[in-house]
Amino acid sequence: MKVSQIFFQTLKEVPKEAQIESHRLLYRAGMIQKLASGIYNYLPLVLRSVRKLENIIREELNKRGCQEILMPAVQPSDIWEESGRWSYYGPELLRFKDRKGSDFCLGPTHEEVITDMVRKNLRSYKQLPYNLYQFQCKFRDEIRPRFGLMRAREFIMKDGYSFDINEEKALDSYKSMYEAYIAIFKRCGLKFKPVDAATGSIGGDKSHEFQVLAESGEDVILSCSKCEYAANKEKAKTKIDFRQSDDEMEKMEEVHTPGKKAVEDVAEFLKKRPSDFIKSVIFVVDGKPALIMVPGDREVNEAKIQAFFKADSIELADDATIEEVTGAETGFAGPVGLKKEILIALDHNLEGRRNLVSGANKTDYHFINISPERDFKPSVTGDFVVTRKGERCPDCDGLLEEFRGIEVGQVFFLGTKYSEKMHCSFIDENGQQSNAVMGCYGLGVGRTVQAAIEQNHDEYGIKWPMALAPYEAIVLPLQMNKEEVVDVAEKIYKKLLNAGVEAVLDDRDERAGFKFNDADLVGYPVQVVIGAKSLEKGEIEVKIRKTGEKKAVPLNEVEDFVCRYKKEEMAIDH
Ligand code: ATP
Ligand code: MG
Repeated sequence: MKVSQIFFQTLKEVPKEAQIESHRLLYRAGMIQKLASGIYNYLPLVLRSVRKLENIIREELNKRGCQEILMPAVQPSDIWEESGRWSYYGPELLRFKDRKGSDFCLGPTHEEVITDMVRKNLRSYKQLPYNLYQFQCKFRDEIRPRFGLMRAREFIMKDGYSFDINEEKALDSYKSMYEAYIAIFKRCGLKFKPVDAATGSIGGDKSHEFQVLAESGEDVILSCSKCEYAANKEKAKTKIDFRQSDDEMEKMEEVHTPGKKAVEDVAEFLKKRPSDFIKSVIFVVDGKPALIMVPGDREVNEAKIQAFFKADSIELADDATIEEVTGAETGFAGPVGLKKEILIALDHNLEGRRNLVSGANKTDYHFINISPERDFKPSVTGDFVVTRKGERCPDCDGLLEEFRGIEVGQVFFLGTKYSEKMHCSFIDENGQQSNAVMGCYGLGVGRTVQAAIEQNHDEYGIKWPMALAPYEAIVLPLQMNKEEVVDVAEKIYKKLLNAGVEAVLDDRDERAGFKFNDADLVGYPVQVVIGAKSLEKGEIEVKIRKTGEKKAVPLNEVEDFVCRYKKEEMAIDH
């Protein structure tokens, strides 16, 4: 390809919405255009990277017995009614009606469609396992689309689904996909970490995310300084030792705390420490209110609560629900004296504690000297707080460190959540009807490509890992008015193509500085620079974009040199 023919325009001014470097670079290098909020055109250069990633994914999945399919982006509501998700998948689901008034959505994910597809085909255990995947545009009406392709509303995802005869086999499928993801991200040349993850509304009870390490990442990861333990902060655990307080239990009393609601305000007013408070938060879990109690200085962890109750949906209760449950304004909830009998859940960190402060379920009142063991009986106890850095690893005596990451993929062990509801079953070896045990495996294609840029760039532009670079090399003739320079450039360009290097020739009649800047910006891993001066010595200069290293290479050795470098880089990436 000649650079003059590539459909791209480098930009100096970047739209303000681009807050992170990879997003700015995609604009600056002429790789994307915005059509609407969170909706982008992928221009030829970045689409080449996308296709390369897709091929890496394809190779790794096909190798492991997966088969590619393509399901529709448009999905009818009836299968979502069957799985139960039509009613609780929130405003992220783009719903619409066809001309007959039937309900449809644009698929944010495809569990329903695949389960429907497989059940129509599945009869006997002998057919399983199935492991099917697709590359498809997903639509999620994200509340805050941002960071370009990373949090878009329409985006390309590889989504895969496995169906097995039992849990053991399904776990094998899960492990095989976990390994495939490791192989894929390694081949992309990314620095990443697999971490334990929460399952959210997709459900199931086991999940890992693949996090590309980057300062600008939206996710926080806690990982052990000593062992392999790593988890998304939403899911991270710590070691909790039960400690029985030896303080005397004082008499519980109601105290007037006019207008003081937040823990900090009440603590200041009563001259107590926030850590001596029971913070009570009311959630609506699958439609039912529940009171969750954590220490006053800790954050409540919604993802852990959802996982603990295996809930399809969870949200903070609104003021009306809180008033109905507590008989008081929002801000005075507590475990003693609730007006309605609801589930009350105590965080482990509060077990054994005495003489605490809590809301009194009465506007402007709190209790002091409330002791869980004497004053109320929780329905359940569990881990309901956000774990913090510096706390102890749950698996060893190391401490947890914090990193930021970009979630590029997630694998879920679904169990029979969908197959049960949607009757995706088969006749097992003993002639019994049995539900398929499922897993699902998502990988954000656009997000991964952009994460590669986020992790590999400098002030001049992108430093593509070889495996994902739109093109592997650029040939840069510096003086377009010198016949010899142009001739040699053409020849080397052709030789590189013949040697299997994906090369472009910058045939534009522009200043050398302009061409260098564009080459750095677009991020070709190798720049082959043809200048009149070095040609006199029978040499040309090869610049490695990743390291900035420049090397004079004899004219007849150029393609060997580039091929060798390419091979080494691909090997590193593997
Ligand atoms: P997030 O927590 O970032 O919203 P998610 O956990 O909802 O993502 P999954 O349902 O696990 O996403 O989807 C699988 C993969 O699809 C993610 O790992 C991510 O790489 C990609 N992805 C999800 N949402 C988006 C988006 N809005 N734009 C681009 N890629 C996305
Ligand atoms: Mg996810």
